[in-house]
Amino acid sequence: MTLTDPADIKALLQRHGFRFSKAMGQNFLINPSVCPRMAEACGAAPGRGVLEIGPGIGVLTEQLAMRAEKVVAVELDRRLLPVLAETLSAYPCAEIVEGDILKLDLPRLLREKFGSLPVSVCANLPYYITSPIVMTLLESRLPIDSLTVMVQKEAAQRLCARPGTREAGAVTLAVQYYAVPEILFSVSRGSFLPAPHVDSAVIRLTLRKEPPCPVRDETVLFRAVRAAFGQRRKTLLNSLSSGGWSRDAVSVALDKAGISPTARAEELTLENFARLSENLPDPASMRP
Ligand code: SAH
Repeated sequence: MTLTDPADIKALLQRHGFRFSKAMGQNFLINPSVCPRMAEACGAAPGRGVLEIGPGIGVLTEQLAMRAEKVVAVELDRRLLPVLAETLSAYPCAEIVEGDILKLDLPRLLREKFGSLPVSVCANLPYYITSPIVMTLLESRLPIDSLTVMVQKEAAQRLCARPGTREAGAVTLAVQYYAVPEILFSVSRGSFLPAPHVDSAVIRLTLRKEPPCPVRDETVLFRAVRAAFGQRRKTLLNSLSSGGWSRDAVSVALDKAGISPTARAEELTLENFARLSENLPDPASMRP
């Protein structure tokens, strides 16, 4: 059985009475060159662990298991568990955990499953929750060194955009704070079964040891970033004021940070936002 062969996949799924769920973002990879490249890019190797999200029928899991010491794959759809038990039976180093990646206690999972192994994340993500997954993995300060993930092309561009450009969004700034992003390669929509309506790309986020511009309170920084990009066409004076800070407080903070009150979110670098947030009041001291 070849896990990238549409005829084999259809026979396998039919045998298990499985139907694709759009709601769970199920598009399985059928392009045989993609998974080996992803497995190499994430650094899967002896002595290293890999956490996968959404293994599907195990096409990427297999490539990871051929290279890594241990692979743990979290799958939400329990209908896939018997399928995975079959397709991965030759790989004892691959373990499936049933669950929602956004709800599991990830620090504990990593501790229990990988012990002291260095771990990276590798996944063809469910696209309906790309940003929440990326943000959860970055913010929970997990002991991982990189995320190599397949996402929609538009999401790849936003996640890897340069701050201070039109492509940048709130998630761009968050990624920059925690990681160094790069787009590795594109993947056409025809590489999936069923084919989605958009093209994809594989990106790698290499986690930083320290943020490039550390701030006293990250909640203030990210509250400001979200408020600014939440109304990205407005001037910072207006968008930040509707984020809960008084116009006076915003005006003083912009002035102290050396930022024009008529600038817009997409013109700011991470360092600009960091300096701005250092001069904004703590949300805890504000009215709800
Ligand atoms: N990696 C496979 C499948 C990708 S499709 C491949 O490349 O072919 C996305 C997968 O994520 C599906 O298996 C889907 O069931 C799973 N999934 C969706 N939401 C999830 C969640 N919240 N937590 C874990 N897995 C999820």
